Amino acid sequence: MNHINKVVVVGGGTSGWMSAALLKKILGNTVNIELIESKTIGIIGVGEATIPPIQTVNEVLGINEAEFMRETKASIKLAIKFENWWQKGQSYFHTFGAPGQSLPFCHYHHLWTRAESLGLKTNLWDYDLNYLAATAGKFAKLETQDPMYEMKYAYHFDSALYGQFLRKHSEKSGVIRTEGLIENVNLNPATGNVESLTLTGGGTVTGDLFIDCSGMRGLLINQALGTGFEDWSHWLAADRAIAIPSERDTKTLPYTRSIAHSKGWQWNIPLQHRNGNGIVYSSRYCSDDEAQDTLIKNIKNKTLADPNLIKFKTGRTRKQWNKNVIAIGLSSGFLEPLESTSIYLVQSAIVRLLKFFPHKGIQASSVNEFNNQSQREYELIRDFIILHYCATSRTDSQFWRDMKALELPRRLTEKLDMFKENGTLVHDDLDVFWEPSWLQVMLGQGIKPMGYHPLASQYSQAKLTEIFTNTRRAKSAPLEKMPSHDEFLKLYLE
Ligand SMILES: Cc1cc2nc3c(=O)[nH]c(=O)nc-3n(C[C@H](O)[C@H](O)[C@H](O)COP(=O)(O)OP(=O)(O)OC[C@H]3O[C@@H](n4cnc5c(N)ncnc54)[C@H](O)[C@@H]3O)c2cc1C
Repeated sequence: MNHINKVVVVGGGTSGWMSAALLKKILGNTVNIELIESKTIGIIGVGEATIPPIQTVNEVLGINEAEFMRETKASIKLAIKFENWWQKGQSYFHTFGAPGQSLPFCHYHHLWTRAESLGLKTNLWDYDLNYLAATAGKFAKLETQDPMYEMKYAYHFDSALYGQFLRKHSEKSGVIRTEGLIENVNLNPATGNVESLTLTGGGTVTGDLFIDCSGMRGLLINQALGTGFEDWSHWLAADRAIAIPSERDTKTLPYTRSIAHSKGWQWNIPLQHRNGNGIVYSSRYCSDDEAQDTLIKNIKNKTLADPNLIKFKTGRTRKQWNKNVIAIGLSSGFLEPLESTSIYLVQSAIVRLLKFFPHKGIQASSVNEFNNQSQREYELIRDFIILHYCATSRTDSQFWRDMKALELPRRLTEKLDMFKENGTLVHDDLDVFWEPSWLQVMLGQGIKPMGYHPLASQYSQAKLTEIFTNTRRAKSAPLEKMPSHDEFLKLYLE
């Protein structure tokens, strides 16, 4: 295969427009980019919570944050609050922050575990600025280099508005948009590569490299190339979601709520103009009617549209890059939105593609490396999501009893064993979730380490009390002058 002169992006959802925008920004005029989308099919229209790496997308694209937040009706996300996951009535936060300040070679939580063993009872989250701000409903952009005061954040936004925002940006930078329904994907009989796409009405679009952002149908990667799908539903049983927007709350929470029910869980995402709500469940355990009733019963504000039922399959395409097609977004696979990772997987796939971009033609070694890394990244997120389900003490339904009894992927079992034994946390290469994330979910789900790092044994109870008091004081200090999240939005966006 020769030089890549033209890239065709199939699909105009979040993944299509993010791919087009980033490829154009980085590759400039070395390639032409054409995006095809069909109004007849439309976009999935959900996907409203993100994680902090999305800020890099904005930075690279040179997007002004306030303008982006205004146009997508965004709010700030500091954390996810998990309610009823470990036990009914209990809740915990998975924040984008970290508790305390770690010592060299020894994470802060080892001191906390040691303190607990000495009878000193304190809440580890009290030493995390994200948690303190989230629970106080406050936010400010803290300009500091001191990791003690770092407050990582992401956004909640309206996914349809986000797509339009990226589209405007992409078209301004030279991406060509074609409205049309693709009827046929034409393969080269000798190589099996995609050569062109035939649109309804007869138009043809040719290209050298095709980015499949066609959503769950996987028009190129799945339907045309038959790449095959690795099914993970034996680990993650959910296969349906119902989404419905409602009127906003008077106060805009700076975090997502994830509320476990007896047969699934419900999200609540606060935006500037409304709340996003939805329920995720498995058709093996729950009918659509029952899920919808549960969802609506638990939305306290007036709903603003009809419920939108979405069916999905959990797992991933066997090869994210096959022939001259790269699957990005829902065409590459799906993991339920428990940790808001799908848009991040889009971003990460584009960054990886740019790293391995086949300027001089497609090489098998690059394709293999791309595929191996993509697989690994998906698996690590999959394991993190499974952790929320398997580490439950709930037994109030067959659903939760089955989740407790899951046979786990090997790496997850190893991570659980290491943490239980002496609080050791391991960050695997390509895992978007670092040690503080695993820590919060493990502890939040009731897993307590039996031991701690030897360094922690050097600290007496009195010394630990002093450390915790000082950390708490330091972490709380910025809150005094911090505006409420709503005041921040008003001031920043006006
Ligand atoms: C219930 C649910 C909740 C979610 N929540 C989150 C979340 O909180 N955070 C997060 O990060 N992600 C979330 N996601 C995932 C997120 O919605 C997607 O990753 C994101 O929207 C990207 O979708 P997409 O662009 O790949 O597909 P789509 O939005 O489905 O876009 C597909 C595009 O392909 C086009 N197309 C398809 N076939 C053809 C054809 N034949 N001809 C022409 N065009 C065609 C369509 O017109 C459309 O433009 C959620 C997903 C679900 C299902």
